[in-house]
Amino acid sequence: MHETDMTKSLILTVKDWYQSQPEPPKIEKIHLIVGQFTCVEPVSLQFAFEVQTRNSFLADVELVIKDIPLVAFCHSCQQEYKPEIGLQYSCPGCNSPMEDIRAGRELKIDRIEYSSLNSHHEVFH
Ligand SMILES: [Zn+2]
Repeated sequence: MHETDMTKSLILTVKDWYQSQPEPPKIEKIHLIVGQFTCVEPVSLQFAFEVQTRNSFLADVELVIKDIPLVAFCHSCQQEYKPEIGLQYSCPGCNSPMEDIRAGRELKIDRIEYSSLNSHHEVFH
């Protein structure tokens, strides 16, 4: 299952960062950016995260997922359009096949919210 592997690498990334901190921070939220064209289901990802972080340093951390819609660019029409995933990927104006994806393939940590020594921080990636 795609989301399970995804979650494993997500946890490893956060763990590296966590262990590089001088004081163990208290992580509150992990903000993720997930493009629709990655085929990752936010609900499955939430579930995999919850299962895999149980009893770990990430237990009770909230995963906040931001969806990025698929956007393609048609060079013939010189404009962006939004393909319908699973249904229609070609340009609605001229029917050329999708060749240039401008958004929707992102899959990364946007930022981590955490607190340490009574202060609140955000780290950006
Ligand atoms: Zn076109």
